[in-house]
Amino acid sequence: EEPTTNTGGSGGGGIMTRVPGGVRGKRKRIVVTGGAGFVGSHLVDRLIERGDNVIVVDNMFTGRKENLLHHMANPNFELIRHDVVQPILLEVDQIYHLACPASPVYYKYNPVKTIKTNVMGTLNMLGLAKRVGARFLLTSTSEVYGDPLQHPQAETYWGHVNPIGVRSCYDEGKRTAETLAMDYHRGAGIEVRIARIFNTYGPRMCLDDGRVVSNFVAQALRKEPLTVYGDGKQTRSFQYVSDLVEGLMRLMEGEHIGPFNLGNPGEFTMLELAQVVQETIDPNAKIEYRPNTEDDPHKRKPDISKAKEFLGWQPTVSLREGLPRMVADFRQRLFGESKSSVS
Ligand code: NAD
Ligand code: UDP
Ligand code: UDP
Repeated sequence: EEPTTNTGGSGGGGIMTRVPGGVRGKRKRIVVTGGAGFVGSHLVDRLIERGDNVIVVDNMFTGRKENLLHHMANPNFELIRHDVVQPILLEVDQIYHLACPASPVYYKYNPVKTIKTNVMGTLNMLGLAKRVGARFLLTSTSEVYGDPLQHPQAETYWGHVNPIGVRSCYDEGKRTAETLAMDYHRGAGIEVRIARIFNTYGPRMCLDDGRVVSNFVAQALRKEPLTVYGDGKQTRSFQYVSDLVEGLMRLMEGEHIGPFNLGNPGEFTMLELAQVVQETIDPNAKIEYRPNTEDDPHKRKPDISKAKEFLGWQPTVSLREGLPRMVADFRQRLFGESKSSVS
């Protein structure tokens, strides 16, 4: 399958591939920044499965080579250790820009680095998109809504964000990244796509990631108490990773810029989540209360009408269906029990 014609350029371009029986079609050249991380590695699986050429650009801050090991021998796959804060030259058709730590524990660890990743990293990837005429997708976040005064949150809501708080490096960083994407679109005609992702969980999350679902699952499996921060009455809406990846690909391939909320509207308090984890893993798991973190949003639930209408997308995996799949993966990684599906 050697490339014969390089049509280059647009997001719809790609490499014509000749296979026995004739030309098969266009294989796209796609960069996934942050592709060694949790969401990115699941996205890479789907793109490789579809027959695309995938280049992952990742500095391995929260990513792991293990997430991509199964592609290492594939000639359609390439892993580049690179920090998106630095410029890079590549020739591609599409850019999925995910590079950025997503867990509060990691994005607060070096906040200035988080800002640089969101601002300089996004600027570099947009500069790359401009130079080669690639389509660019930004993985923004529900955090752009801050501690929301509107519930559920629709894309038209401008948010309620503390610009000088400990979460600002991430939420203001992502807001700036959205601004950059729109300014490159309006100013340089770049084809951009913006996804606002709500809390997502699934296999391959780091065991010590610090986010609530991975914490509770790892704690229950290790027979440790589940750490509930604050009174546990704050809410989040949890999306299984395969639903998110489907939404991201539809957004990239579709004709709409967004922003689009991608999330599961099923809303849970942290105490309700703890209960689902108890039911799934260990009914005797204890709960331990800890002080909450600063500026923690009180509630969060996506209004996904826009994604339903324009992308024909909605989540299909409920928390009670998705959690056991994640638990199987965590069990395997914690105790080396028989390997089960990680999709
Ligand atoms: P993750 O931390 O597992 O993955 C992020 C990846 O980016 C890692 O592989 C990390 O090494 C890499 N990275 C970080 N800084 C980088 C840099 N400067 N240069 C190159 N690579 C860098 O997080 P995730 O959950 O997979 O999230 C992926 C994207 O989705 C992020 O942009 C995140 O903000 C966004 N998002 C995720 C969620 C969620 O719940 N998972 C919610 C909202 C938004
Ligand atoms: N850039 C990059 N790869 C490219 C093209 C640009 O990393 O293939 C970087 C470039 O170094 C710059 C940023 O993207 O820092 C923005 O590029 P742009 O051309 O939009 O701006 P300029 O270089 O004119 O300031
Ligand atoms: N949380 C918790 N216990 C934990 C980790 C987090 O109760 O061990 C709470 C946290 O205070 C927040 C919610 O769970 O209210 C979601 O936190 P997470 O870090 O997963 O994501 P966020 O939506 O805040 O980015």
